[in-house]
Amino acid sequence: MVRVKEYFGNVWKTLATTWGGMRITGKYFLQKPITVQYPDERLPIPDRYRGIHYLEQEKCINCLACARACPIDCIEMEAIRHGKELEWVSFTLDYQKCMFCELCVYPCPKDCIHMGTEFALVTYDRSELNHDLLSFRGMSREARIRMKEAEEKKKAKEAAKAAKEAAEAADSKDEKGEG
Ligand code: SF4
Ligand code: SF4
Repeated sequence: MVRVKEYFGNVWKTLATTWGGMRITGKYFLQKPITVQYPDERLPIPDRYRGIHYLEQEKCINCLACARACPIDCIEMEAIRHGKELEWVSFTLDYQKCMFCELCVYPCPKDCIHMGTEFALVTYDRSELNHDLLSFRGMSREARIRMKEAEEKKKAKEAAKAAKEAAEAADSKDEKGEG
């Protein structure tokens, strides 16, 4: 009698737990899926997420404030100055060291280095983690035009000055000749 009771007890438990499990399965079966098929699909990223940096290179003045503020020296840059214009060689950020603290962003006087929403840093080669943030090398087209205009202005100014000096010299010669 005890065995029969135990048998039916087990049958009841099996049915009850199966029903409980299937109820949860049924509930989620009717809902929209909550899994995301990464990397084909991505969850929305908050605006203030601290991801991979991006640089507005045209605004950058190579002041090094971001590099100096970085507590672990991840930022290195090199640019050649031509008067007010810059010829860019490199601007790198080493993600082997970066801890995404954002301390490099605040001191920027031009508000041109930002933390983006991209986060995928998957690679087989560590050297690829030293990212170059430049969008172009050398000088921008606008900078080249500005530099050319400044050179032409300088040349015109020098020519005008030389002409003025020559005229003054000729005048003083005439005056001496008259005397
Ligand atoms: S986020 Fe922090 S660690 Fe990374 S480069 Fe900026 S200051 Fe350096
Ligand atoms: S602080 Fe800003 S302007 Fe200065 S070098 Fe860094 S990114 Fe460029």
